[in-house]
Amino acid sequence: MPTNYRDIPSVSSVLEDERVKRLVSEYTHAAVLDVIRREIASAREAIRNGEGTGQMSDLVGAIEREASNRWRSWPVQVINATGVVLHTNLGRAPLSTEAISAMQTASAGYTDIELDLESGTRGSRQAHLSHILCQLTGAEAALAVNNNASAVLLGLTAVASGSEVIVSRGQAIEIGGGFRVPDVLSQSGVTLVEVGTTNKTYVRDYEEAINENTGALLVVHASNFRVTGFTDTPELRELVELGRSRNLPVLHDLGSGCLLDSSDFGLAHEPMPQESVAIGSGLAFFSGDKLLGGPQAGIMVGDGRLVSQASKHPLARAVRIDKVTLAGLVATLMHYVKDEVTEKIPIWAMLSQPRDVLDGRVQRWLEAIGQGELLIDGESTIGGGSLPGETLNTTLLGLRLDDPESFLALLRSSTPPVIARIQDQCVLLDPRTVLPQQDNQLIAAVQQSLAEQAG
Ligand SMILES: *Cc1c(COP(=O)(O)O)cnc(C)c1O
Repeated sequence: MPTNYRDIPSVSSVLEDERVKRLVSEYTHAAVLDVIRREIASAREAIRNGEGTGQMSDLVGAIEREASNRWRSWPVQVINATGVVLHTNLGRAPLSTEAISAMQTASAGYTDIELDLESGTRGSRQAHLSHILCQLTGAEAALAVNNNASAVLLGLTAVASGSEVIVSRGQAIEIGGGFRVPDVLSQSGVTLVEVGTTNKTYVRDYEEAINENTGALLVVHASNFRVTGFTDTPELRELVELGRSRNLPVLHDLGSGCLLDSSDFGLAHEPMPQESVAIGSGLAFFSGDKLLGGPQAGIMVGDGRLVSQASKHPLARAVRIDKVTLAGLVATLMHYVKDEVTEKIPIWAMLSQPRDVLDGRVQRWLEAIGQGELLIDGESTIGGGSLPGETLNTTLLGLRLDDPESFLALLRSSTPPVIARIQDQCVLLDPRTVLPQQDNQLIAAVQQSLAEQAG
């Protein structure tokens, strides 16, 4: 067996191989050359470690694998059987048919995104969306940007840069993915003034911290954790009153953008943008792809003068929302206007799925798979920085297997991949987050993975 560097084929001889020639015709010479060079380098490395042979057939096999992995289409659709409705790693909210179709229309050709069709002059990319957002939330003005992190950054910068912003110590938090309230404040050119303690903050703490340099009061919803026990936080209403008396706006980061009352769905009440506006916050910020159920976006609604200040700030251009997202967002919001949210928006259809429907689906899975058990005490979670600790009762398919971890890996390698979870050594599949049209694919993936594990 050749284990010598001299036995490693040269680049030119690899290029003569029929399989490599096929790769060159599918991709480009330069792209394939790059992969060949890398694989030759790893073959050298392998020989140095006493692991490789440097044979042509091994080398070409490695080149093909690397090419098909590196240039595979991505991202692929996966089946979410975790029961986590807004799964950040799986891209948060799946979109409604109408939103998908609007996004396709916006991307396939030219659109009137910034053209007023009546006058033929330049139009605003925000105007149409802003009317709908104002109608839904009762706000004077609205602005959509790239995501909520940038909405908060823009709002703070435009309204309070160079001044002090007062935040409760219990709200100087990390939301996840590196979004930390103190860092966002410092990026906005704002001086953070923390008041109160981690568990208790009173209105008087804010009151005592206000001085001539104060620019705003900031309220951040604890969207991904819960503080329980000996705690106190002022009501938004009290802070708005305090702000009014001192001529200071309250900036309110809600996180999720829940436009429906979550308590109607057996969940805790998530703060709603329309409530924040009604109470009198100066600006309310929220995401497009959490409980709103739309594409990734950040929305600010509120006082006309403050929104206008934000929209004219140079940073607004840097965090501008793109036309495709805008189309999806408008289509998603129209489901709220038409009062058809639970029928049309997938995450709300999931959250409101009746138990008997979930039971029926698992029953069907079980019959088709012929293995496993129906577990009636399951819990689906919300995830994605919304309703922390809240769960919905669900029915699960449970599979007790010798090696649950390797079974999860088999499911992930299915086409389409299925993402499931393990609890107490049992593989659990939750129908709530599996789109109904994916049921048969899920059954096939489980059947095949069971056969592979057995064989
Ligand atoms: C999720 C969240 C953000 C960040 O929103 P993105 O849309 O992910 O940028 C900011 N603040 C709060 C309170 C959040 O929950």
